[in-house]
Amino acid sequence: MAAGAAGRRDPEPGPAGEKRILCVGLVCLDIISVVEAYPAEDSDTRCVSQRWQRGGNASNSCTVLALLGAPCAFMGSLAPGLAADFIAADFQRRGVDVSHVAWQPRGDVPCACCVVSAASGSRTIVLYDTNLPEVTARDFERVDLSQYKWIHWEVFISKDVAQHFGYRSAPEALQGLRSRVQPGATLICAWAEAGADAVGPGGELVHSDAFPPETLVDTLGAGDTFNAAVIFALSAGRSLQDALTFGCQIAGRKCGIQGFDGIV
Ligand code: ADP
Repeated sequence: MAAGAAGRRDPEPGPAGEKRILCVGLVCLDIISVVEAYPAEDSDTRCVSQRWQRGGNASNSCTVLALLGAPCAFMGSLAPGLAADFIAADFQRRGVDVSHVAWQPRGDVPCACCVVSAASGSRTIVLYDTNLPEVTARDFERVDLSQYKWIHWEVFISKDVAQHFGYRSAPEALQGLRSRVQPGATLICAWAEAGADAVGPGGELVHSDAFPPETLVDTLGAGDTFNAAVIFALSAGRSLQDALTFGCQIAGRKCGIQGFDGIV
């Protein structure tokens, strides 16, 4: 299955010559246990259900883009083995292009053990971030940029990162981080049930409330879903306000279901 560097080539554009969206970043194996309520430390309980899911931020965003009908490609590292076989088959099932996967000769595919609480919809993630080498600038140089209309690394600020820097809300994070990015950049920050905020290239502030589902079921990948839906809308020429609202709508739907099937 591993494709050598010489074997890598850019995919043809999507149907009707449509340019693709490329997401660069993590793919991992998520082993997800759905529990009735979050267990106490050192307890021994049964879960309601358990599943393997292809996870990782960029990989999840590709899943959502594919479900939204956008031709997309994933770029990140994998190492041959059982986990990679599962992941590659799942990318294929979703129609996500994997010709830019950097197959590494050594290292292990990262694995995340995730506990999703049916009582609250919360997700608790423990990621084993292995020694797998990252994608390099050299890998990226092989990408034919003319095939892509949007390339996603990190632009978006997640709530976790914002809180790590000491911010207590999305507007506070945007205000604090704005001076640290290039003038004219757009900054977007999602904040769970508070929805999302953004600051546009001209300094305009934009907000969307969240769209809470009837029952909060599974918030694992809500941020990745939000990012993908915002990218989908912005890359189709929609305004920042429209994109933020669309992102919150699709992410809200995701929070009401297990996994991603059913967000559209
Ligand atoms: P992450 O997965 O990075 O922790 P967030 O929790 O910030 O992502 O959520 C991303 C988006 O998902 C939010 O902007 C919101 O639209 C939606 N979302 C997340 N949690 C909830 C919730 N409890 N109720 C409604 N919407 C939510």
